[in-house]
Amino acid sequence: MNHPAIDPSLEQHRIAALLKQAPLEFARVVYGLRDTAQGKHWTSVAHDVARIEQLGSPVTRDRAQQRSRGYLPLTGQAHCPRCWVLGGVKNPLHFRAATDERPDSAICKVCGAEYLTAPPVEE
Ligand SMILES: [Zn+2]
Repeated sequence: MNHPAIDPSLEQHRIAALLKQAPLEFARVVYGLRDTAQGKHWTSVAHDVARIEQLGSPVTRDRAQQRSRGYLPLTGQAHCPRCWVLGGVKNPLHFRAATDERPDSAICKVCGAEYLTAPPVEE
């Protein structure tokens, strides 16, 4: 499934795209904590917060913010920003090279997050 020869510039775009996701995942955790506090347990992010807390690690705004700042995906071993920011867990992302139907993307098989990692279109 993986492309045998990955273009180094594509790898750089993937890492850069993932780095931008960490603060968004932090914002998402903040929504999740708010939803939970307001009793809106049906939202997908409230589900994510509950799932992590059931594993025994409380989700807090401060921890999520620290982790989003510390998110450092490594080339070839990038981990899921959502799992990392939510629970401090490093779950590997699976990259899918672009095809005619869809752009380059990364998915996490644990939480189901999907990130577009396509390089910007040159004009
Ligand atoms: Zn994940």
